[in-house]
Amino acid sequence: MTYVFFHAHPDDEAIFTGGTIARLAERGVPVTVVLATGGEGGIEPAGGSGSPIGALSSLRRQESELAAKVLGVDHLAFLGYRDSGLGSELPADAFALAPVEEAAARLARVLAEVEATAMIYYDEGGIYGHADHLAVHRVGQRAAALAGLDTVYEATVDREHLHFVATHLVGHAVAALHQEAGYPSGGLHEPPPTGVPTVEVTTTIDVTGVIEQKRSAMAAHASQIPTDSEVLTMDADTFTAVYGLEWFIRTGPATGLDTLAMEAR
Ligand SMILES: [Zn+2]
Repeated sequence: MTYVFFHAHPDDEAIFTGGTIARLAERGVPVTVVLATGGEGGIEPAGGSGSPIGALSSLRRQESELAAKVLGVDHLAFLGYRDSGLGSELPADAFALAPVEEAAARLARVLAEVEATAMIYYDEGGIYGHADHLAVHRVGQRAAALAGLDTVYEATVDREHLHFVATHLVGHAVAALHQEAGYPSGGLHEPPPTGVPTVEVTTTIDVTGVIEQKRSAMAAHASQIPTDSEVLTMDADTFTAVYGLEWFIRTGPATGLDTLAMEAR
């Protein structure tokens, strides 16, 4: 039994599914993380401005390896596409522009190699609408079909839950995306909503028992989530309220992940 977590950028795996990965790993269940891009569109580290794209990419690879170690991931793979970033001009090898068949074939090869039982990718809105996250949904769905997986899980967030807690990083990501897309606040056009309503979630994993591991995995992505950032400095109770649950929409027969969902921590 192997679970494959397919994510867009380094740090998404920790933010959206880090606790679930840690809980699976703690039970000895093999986990593979596949990152579609190297996160080349991320924040340049201080003093690193103007450095070649490759420098940020190799830093983010190191951070991903560290986060994987913290969470107990067995295998970390990169699909090799470029981060589409937030700008309106996409690089030629941007993941958002990748032909679905080609990218899905690459991903399906990984699924076959590790003999995946189930795959986790994003909901159809890409959780919050980033172009690379939307591509994760399209490519994940197609790769699951190519690999003949019976069960897939779409990682999402419960928007009703997030309404009542301190701001989740996805909230900051949404703000950045909407600013870039030019949604004026209070304007005529409404941006797409984040995640799904509670009723659409099939599988909620309580990760409060591994919450410090999740926070450490997020901290491993230090170039994007600095030590002094809001999320890494909030008190433990607040952090647990915001990040202590992870949400999925299952298609296909239940697996061990659903069993995990029924066990309180
Ligand atoms: Zn992302």
